[in-house]
Order: sequence, then C-alpha cells, then structure tokens
Amino acid sequence: MIHKTKYIFITGGVLSSLGKGISSASLGLLLKRRGLSVTVMKFDPYINIDPGTMSPHQHGEVYVTDDGAETDLDLGHYERFLDISTSRNNSTSAGQIYFEVIQKERRGAYLGKTVQVIPHITDEIKRRMTTFDKQVDVVLIEIGGTVGDIESLPFLEAVRQVCLERGSRNTLNIHLTYVPYIKSAGELKTKPTQHSVKVLMEGGIRPDILLCRTEQKLNKEVRSKIALFCNVEEDSVIEVLDADTIYEVPMSLAKRSLDDIVLRKLHVKTQDLEMETWTKFVHRIKSPKYDVTIGLVGKYTQVQDSYKSILEAFIHAGAINNTKVNVRWLDSEHITAENAAEQLSGLDGVLVAPGFGSRGIEGKLHALKLIRENGIPFFGICLGMQCAVIEFARNVCGLADANSKEFKKTKNNIIDLMPDQRNVTDKGGTMRLGAYPCVLKKGSLAAAAYNSENINERHRHRYEVNNTYRRMLEEKGMILSGLSPDTTLVEIIELPNHPWFVGVQFHPELKSRAVSGHPLFIAFIKAALTRKNAGKDE
Ligand code: GLN
Repeated sequence: MIHKTKYIFITGGVLSSLGKGISSASLGLLLKRRGLSVTVMKFDPYINIDPGTMSPHQHGEVYVTDDGAETDLDLGHYERFLDISTSRNNSTSAGQIYFEVIQKERRGAYLGKTVQVIPHITDEIKRRMTTFDKQVDVVLIEIGGTVGDIESLPFLEAVRQVCLERGSRNTLNIHLTYVPYIKSAGELKTKPTQHSVKVLMEGGIRPDILLCRTEQKLNKEVRSKIALFCNVEEDSVIEVLDADTIYEVPMSLAKRSLDDIVLRKLHVKTQDLEMETWTKFVHRIKSPKYDVTIGLVGKYTQVQDSYKSILEAFIHAGAINNTKVNVRWLDSEHITAENAAEQLSGLDGVLVAPGFGSRGIEGKLHALKLIRENGIPFFGICLGMQCAVIEFARNVCGLADANSKEFKKTKNNIIDLMPDQRNVTDKGGTMRLGAYPCVLKKGSLAAAAYNSENINERHRHRYEVNNTYRRMLEEKGMILSGLSPDTTLVEIIELPNHPWFVGVQFHPELKSRAVSGHPLFIAFIKAALTRKNAGKDE
C-alpha cells in the first residue's frame, strides 16, 4: 500500500466512442500488474438516476454489480480487465448527485443557504470521487461525455478542485483525443486535439498525458507539434492505434510505456510489469486452433452493445477452448415455425438472450423447439431460460397456453411474479437485482461446469418459474439443477438426453473475466465444439 491514494482522471475530447472505458480499464490492468491495488470509477453526466430505465438502443447493456446497482457498461470492462468486483460506489450519474443534493435541501441540511451548482453539486461529486480514499493505491476516474459538453462542467470543476487540493504528486490528468487522418491532404491533423485541450485548460485542467486515438502512426513531427501546442511533455503524447482485439490495448499501451510515465509523474515505485498470463490469453484470442458458430437469438440485434458482456464472455470462453467464436445474429422477430430450421442451419450452438417485453417471443419458442428436438447445444439466459421453460410446458407437457405473465395472462402462467411481488407498479428498481446464492444438483451439467455445488450469480429480472408447475416439469424430464438455498426459486434448468441444454435465471455473462472466463460459457462453447467435430467425422 502506498502512503496516499493517487487519483487518475480520464477525460475525453473531440468526439465520443473513442474507447475511454477500454483505455481506463487497460491502464488499470497495467497498474494492477505492477502490484498496486486499483479501482476504476465512472461518472456519467446524464440526469437518469441509473441506466436501468434506459432502452438498450440508447445506452447498450445495463451492467449489474454484486450489490445490485444497475450501472454503465464500462463497469463491465473494468471488472473483466482488472478481475475485480465493483459496486454501486463505482458508478455515479449526475441524476444521483442532484437527487442527493435536493433531498438534503428538503431536509434543511443546508441551513438556509442558497443551494448552487458550485459548491454544493461539485462538493457532492468530490465526496463520491474520494469514496475509496485510503482503501486502494490508485483510483482511476473516468468522466463520461466529451469536454465542452454543458452537462460535464460540474464534473470537470470537481476534477480541478480535487487536483488542486491533493497536489500534482497525487493526481494526474489523462485526456483521450482523436487525431484524424485526412486522406486528400495525406496528413494527420492535430487541430481537433489542440481545441479539445484548450477547452480543458479553460476549465483549469492541464492534461499530463494525451492518449491519441489514430488510424495512422504518429510520427515524431506530429507528436512534437501536439506536445508543444498542448503543453504536454513529448513522451506523454501517446498514440493509441486501432487494435485487433480490445484485449490487446493494455499491451500496446505498455509498449509505449504508459505505466512507466504514469508512475513517474505520480512518484510511485513499484515492481516490474508482469503480463505473461495476459499475453498468452491475447495470443489464444488471435490465433485459435478451432472455430464454432453460435446463433445469438435476441431482439436488439441492431445494437451489439446491448449484449456486450455476452459477446465478451464468448471471447473469454473461446480463448480457453482455443476456439474462435463466430456469432450469427438472429432477430427473433423474424423466426417462424416454417423458417426456423433454415435460420438455425449450420449453427454449432444457440444462445437465447435476455430481454424484456413480448416482442419476438414466439420466434424464440420456434427456435427452442428445434433446438430441443435436434440436440443443438443451448444456453438460455434469463428470458432465454424462461422461454425454454415455456416451450417445454407447451410442447412436452401439453399446456398449449403456457406463457409468462409478462406477456400474457393465461390459465398456465408457468413464468410468473412471486406472490410478494404482485402489486408492484413502479418500473425503476423493482427487480431482483444483484448477486444471489444458488445450490447446484449433484451430477448436473451445471455442477460439472462449475466443479462446485455452491455458486453466486447476478440477477436482473422480475419474473420467476412458477413453483406450482415444478413437479410437472420434473415429471416430464426437466431437471431443476439450481435452486436458491431455501429451495423457493428455480435458478437453473437443464434437459437430459440432450448434449447440452442449460437455462439460467441469472446473468452469468456479468461475471466472466478476461483470463479465467465463466464456467457455463466455457462448457457451452466446448459442447458446441464437440458437436462441430462430431459432424466432421461423419
Ligand atoms: N423479462 C424477464 C423478467 O423480467 C427477463 C429479464 C431478463 O432477461 N433480464 O423476468
């Protein structure tokens, strides 16, 4: 543990989507691999309390932490790269800040003062930024949005104040910018970066390091120019080239000595960087021996960020199986009884995705019938698991009207709210959220995958398997292989006499970490690979 917690702020300029989250996670990983304890925080300038109520089209996936916070998907990158578990303290929105300040005002906590953005909002931001003080060596703080946005101003002001109060030995500012290559001029252009830094400096923040996203290498001349006009040391102008995989970014930043420069500026001495296991992991991603094609059945197939953690979990599990996982997107709204076989042809496995609302459900059920009857490896997550239970109830148990109460009230709501949830009307924060324990049945596929009988997984859903139907499902052959410790909730279902058919009520993808992967994803990809190889031998 170093004497004082060091704070590294990461801001973004020029445009969004430059990969601030990946850069923050990558730097966090490098510092961790030098023996420091690190956490990463995200501050988002939007007014929503959290992304829980935002459409996946707007915000991508909602990432859920162990303590049940619905957060920004960048927290997923932090957890996957750093192999840490974050909490609600790692993700803050402007909405939360304002909510807190307004509640305090109503309680009279400001003793008659006029409540203002400065100092009251900025003080609340600062209070949250320093939550991990003295608990870790380094706190990386990613500020969402782009400098120059009106809504980012209070956050940047808070950054400026923290830097002033804690001094330059304990704080560092990294600014991520874009250096475009203009084809017609044959030149890399530094002006957008200069402008962005100027805006930052107008707010009193001087960047110590510039990370320059670019498609072309920055030559010495361009780097000197950026350094001179942006008031940054030349070795601290670091190019970030497009990478084949996001997991390569830490290695390319290390190659440019980002960790050395950061530690030098913060006056911290550490052990040398150790990246052996990570490098092997990246090598397995880049040169896999095998490949499989997995169908991903969902309804947000246009916005791939909606399934971010699932896609990353495929990469992790693929690396462990030495396999490239190709994903074929299948929009469940376009799957019918007639075309299901054609849509699923050539797939080595199918994952039916989580989701909300009735759109696309019937397509999922058509796909599931085929998957069950044809022995295609199947992994159902949350809604995907619920659909597997509905399909089984309809086509194996003979309950033609089996459905989830979420979609249709019928005589056989095999998926339903639990009795204590039935008068819930609010949409925000009414779900089963966060980590819950689960006990696995000996000898099940799940127990084999986890190699353990007690697990803990994260949830985000309202509906559950209706306990009234449990006996019927079991009598017809479905195995309820994971239950809550008090046995009142069904957490995992599977089918015997099928190569690999597993549905889970929770979200395993949220706990898949880069190097180690997730047991169920690893087992699923292995089953897909087995199917593919069996096909070859025929
Ligand atoms: N809509 C379902 C529920 O609320 C499933 C949610 C999900 O897939 N995350 O129970």
